[in-house]
Amino acid sequence: MKAHDGMYIDGAWRPAAGRDTIAVVNPVDEQVIAQVPAGTAEDVDAAVRAARAALPGWAATAPAERAARIAALRDVLVARKDEIAATVTAELGAPLPFSQLVHAGVPVLVAGSYAELAASYAFEEKVGNSTVYAEPVGVVGAITPWNYPLHQIVAKVAPALAAGCTVVLKPAEDTPLTAQLFAEAVDEAGVPAGVFNLVTGLGPVAGQALAEHDGVDLVSFTGSTAVGRRIGATAGAAVKRVALELGGKSANVILPSADLAKAVGVGVANVMGNSGQTCSAWTRMLVHTSRYDEAVALAAEAAAKYGDRIGPLVNAKQHARVRGYIEKGVAEGARLVAGGAEAPREQGYFVSPTVFADVTPEMTIAQEEIFGPVVSLIRYEDEDDALRIANGTVYGLAGAVWAGDDAEAVAFARRMDTGQVDINGGRFNPLAPFGGYKQSGVGRELGSHGLAEYLQTKSLQF
Ligand code: NAD
Repeated sequence: MKAHDGMYIDGAWRPAAGRDTIAVVNPVDEQVIAQVPAGTAEDVDAAVRAARAALPGWAATAPAERAARIAALRDVLVARKDEIAATVTAELGAPLPFSQLVHAGVPVLVAGSYAELAASYAFEEKVGNSTVYAEPVGVVGAITPWNYPLHQIVAKVAPALAAGCTVVLKPAEDTPLTAQLFAEAVDEAGVPAGVFNLVTGLGPVAGQALAEHDGVDLVSFTGSTAVGRRIGATAGAAVKRVALELGGKSANVILPSADLAKAVGVGVANVMGNSGQTCSAWTRMLVHTSRYDEAVALAAEAAAKYGDRIGPLVNAKQHARVRGYIEKGVAEGARLVAGGAEAPREQGYFVSPTVFADVTPEMTIAQEEIFGPVVSLIRYEDEDDALRIANGTVYGLAGAVWAGDDAEAVAFARRMDTGQVDINGGRFNPLAPFGGYKQSGVGRELGSHGLAEYLQTKSLQF
């Protein structure tokens, strides 16, 4: 697989400061497909300096011109979508059709939305005798995970550029090739040198150096709660802005009046997509006791249909971790009705689509983020019981509610402590704010709310 052996800093690929590299592994066959440089604090420092030097010029660039560059970036992402999909498939293991549709497709929508927002956003407004300007926060340190490798980059970089911020990106170790492709796309789009910079490297080395760097004004992080907590603490100590998009344990609440077959079918599909490696996946399916057995049978059937159509998990560590959770579910008394901990293939980090019945709300598999193709069916007695279970985790990222009519589902959704709820199978909206209540994070991504994260206000009084 094509890989750059340097960092993209100040508009060019430059040699890394150190000699260490990171091996990129294809999770389908466990073969090394490329090596990328493992950045050090020195690389991060060079990138932050470039971003800081480019800041005044980019911040002063007219929003219409910033919009034009983001639109050009979207066009490059469209032109190179096949290459992007093939790269995500090679390093993440996602089946090619899913990579084409979601991993390559969604970033085009998001980049397009920010090209429009940059052009139309009110960066200046009159409030009584004041004029309020929305100004860029400054240099952004973006730290991204591997599960939606391009989407998570675009969901940070596009609004940052729209706002007039400059960026240093530290992508996940497992998916650096997609990030390198993105850097090429930024270059092709004619974004000025230094406005976007890429440093590949290990989280505790390059990632930490970026989060701690004095020259970074805002750290935007997506990943695990453990690392997010550290980054939040570091940013807090430095009185630096921070946005955290962390884990989830979302509930799929099926009210008694719902179309059960549809709710269960869509619910299982939601978890199996991307092999369960989706922070907003509805991993807990809540079903009324009167329809529970029927739901269990439908879920087992739906999971079986996925068979070996889902891709592997991203790496050996996640493979071991997810299988460990399945073993724990069995040990704590949940009933396996599909899949299990046994690896379905000799090679590759595959886990079978797994469904647990008789899961109780306090079990580990009902509380902790598994990040694999595992659905837990939990029984409830009445609506208050369902609400208590739905809200009964430390997370609050997403969820779903199904009912005979939308109004009934909305009434329930309004009582949920969570940032996004799909009503009766509502579609993805790239303009809707995405982010968590409680320990699922701080801040919002996407749409105008996502843009606002990269802006600060200045009021002039007359
Ligand atoms: P992680 O939090 O370790 O990695 C996410 C990003 O943070 C990567 O770019 C990594 O290099 C970087 N990082 C790691 N340590 C760092 C540090 N000390 N300072 C700065 N940056 C650092 O996540 P992971 O180990 O890849 O996955 C573990 C678990 O996290 C998963 O099982 C899942 O539960 C959760 N996760 C959540 C999301 C999400 O979208 N919210 C994404 C990936 C993983």
